Amino acid sequence: MNCFDCQGLDIATAAVAVCRICGAGVCHRHAHAQPQVLHQLAGTGLATRPRAARRMLCDTCTAAESGG
Ligand SMILES: [Zn+2]
Ligand SMILES: [Zn+2]
Repeated sequence: MNCFDCQGLDIATAAVAVCRICGAGVCHRHAHAQPQVLHQLAGTGLATRPRAARRMLCDTCTAAESGG
């Protein structure tokens, strides 16, 4: 699979990740790794796990999420 964003620039770059939102393959330049805090039910409340997980997004979805 090649990077979807590079494809638009007529460049063939191997994808190293898949966007979690749109499913596009992205290369290391177009991939954005974001921490994702996980929660778990603990008794009557919600506890936050001490370590954040990771999710990968493409340029487009990163911009959309940040409101830019
Ligand atoms: Zn790319
Ligand atoms: Zn995306």
